[in-house]
Amino acid sequence: MSACLLPVTMPAAGSSLLSMFDEENCIQISGLQHLAFCKRQWGLIHIDQEWEENQLTAEGRNLHERVDEGYQEFRKGLRQYSGLYVKSLKFGINGRTDLIEAIKSDDGACNKIQMLGLEGRWSLYPVEFKRGKPKSYDADYIQLCAQALCLEEMTGTEKNSGAVFYWQIRKRTEVEFDTRLREKTISLIMLAHELLEKGLVPPPEYAQHCRSCSLLEVCMPKKLNQSRLISYRQELLG
Ligand code: SF4
Repeated sequence: MSACLLPVTMPAAGSSLLSMFDEENCIQISGLQHLAFCKRQWGLIHIDQEWEENQLTAEGRNLHERVDEGYQEFRKGLRQYSGLYVKSLKFGINGRTDLIEAIKSDDGACNKIQMLGLEGRWSLYPVEFKRGKPKSYDADYIQLCAQALCLEEMTGTEKNSGAVFYWQIRKRTEVEFDTRLREKTISLIMLAHELLEKGLVPPPEYAQHCRSCSLLEVCMPKKLNQSRLISYRQELLG
């Protein structure tokens, strides 16, 4: 993972939030989209280390390889940084952001920060790139919100919104980090930690989205064994 760091003044030691995790047991932010899509898909990828490429995943990977090449663009009042490493030890998540925009603003709001080597106050705005168009479920927004949680912990300031850029329609969708999205994101993060700790891969539940799943052949959801489902529930309950 890149060591590119956010060029900001970090909050003073002692003002940091309670750390529940360390770097070794952080989960990848990018994996939250798999968990939002299907718990079993996340388990197969992140616990069983299964991965199958299909056309959708290949296109997504190509797009992110271009984004992750790392660039910085400077314009008056705007700085753009790609491929920056972010983490939250409170939530046990880390990853690389597609794009962070720093926007200069002297409106006096308290969620502005100082940037290393730059004058004035700046607000940070995460942008995630996706190959397709907006989805009917909020996996992309959850991934973006997790990045915002990291930025909040790293800078000590609240982030109100970000955006997802959809390549197919060449448009940004603005995303507000409201209470509902934050709660959903945090609950998925905690579920991921729980599954990882117990080493549990959830059983398949065949649904329409299985037809676009790259792991269909590995998962075999139509061969669901009811006893596996029962034993999984027992294991999850401890
Ligand atoms: S095939 Fe269906 S149940 Fe299996 S991992 Fe994919 S989406 Fe989940």
